[in-house]
Amino acid sequence: MAIVLVLRHMGKGPHPSGSPQSIHGKGGLAVHEDKAEYGPGPAGEKLSASFKASKKTTVGLVAGEVLEAIDKVHGLNRVMEQPIPIKSSTAKGRNGQFRYNSRGEAMDISISTYPTKLLTVAHEIGHFIDQQMVEGPKKAHGAWGMGGEELPSDGSPLLKEWREAVKNSDSAAQLRKMRTTGIDPFSGEKIYDWRYLLNLCSYGEMFARSYSQYITTGSGNANMMDELDTKRGMKYYDRYKYLTDEDFEPIATAFDNLFKKLGWTK
Ligand SMILES: [Zn+2]
Repeated sequence: MAIVLVLRHMGKGPHPSGSPQSIHGKGGLAVHEDKAEYGPGPAGEKLSASFKASKKTTVGLVAGEVLEAIDKVHGLNRVMEQPIPIKSSTAKGRNGQFRYNSRGEAMDISISTYPTKLLTVAHEIGHFIDQQMVEGPKKAHGAWGMGGEELPSDGSPLLKEWREAVKNSDSAAQLRKMRTTGIDPFSGEKIYDWRYLLNLCSYGEMFARSYSQYITTGSGNANMMDELDTKRGMKYYDRYKYLTDEDFEPIATAFDNLFKKLGWTK
């Protein structure tokens, strides 16, 4: 029997009640809507053709909006023979998960946040891109979080520029500082959820997060932009999961170059 490897998007930080606040100045949203025209445009197969989601469910509708946003930004070299279901889940303790097995076959994406977040769907699709599409299917080597995974985000030369950009970002510097001091650099409070913090700092998670941010700014989807601003306005270290526009620029360029190289954009 195939081992199932799960890539989780852990949900909660220590202060989920942190009040959302936009960090954008005047006309932030309009600026991002202008960016809908940003980038060279998609090439190849539509990513949406590799997924299926029921329009009768809330998760399905949200997934549909995200797939449409992704199709505006980039395509893929191939279409999955069996479309991957995006479904809802009642699982607690995580927002969503992407599963694949020891043969390297992508299985499904399940979303358990309520209300369903577009960024969560994009994040899980980011894991799918990493495991399935950048270098072709990657097999599961061991249990998740045990150092068994060898995904392109961890070591592929194709993602070297991306890793450098991520490593050099202010956001990553804040997360690293927090690992050393054990203190949340924004709130000044003590960190107690180390497992969550270590997970935040892994390349796999940073890839999924930065992919969701790239799709948000690249597509200009206003609902995704609202979610991004809410995250970046958090009053505790969760704000560093997403980057300021300026901090994100080199990462966006790395994605531009990667997708062009892979033939996913014109
Ligand atoms: Zn994740």
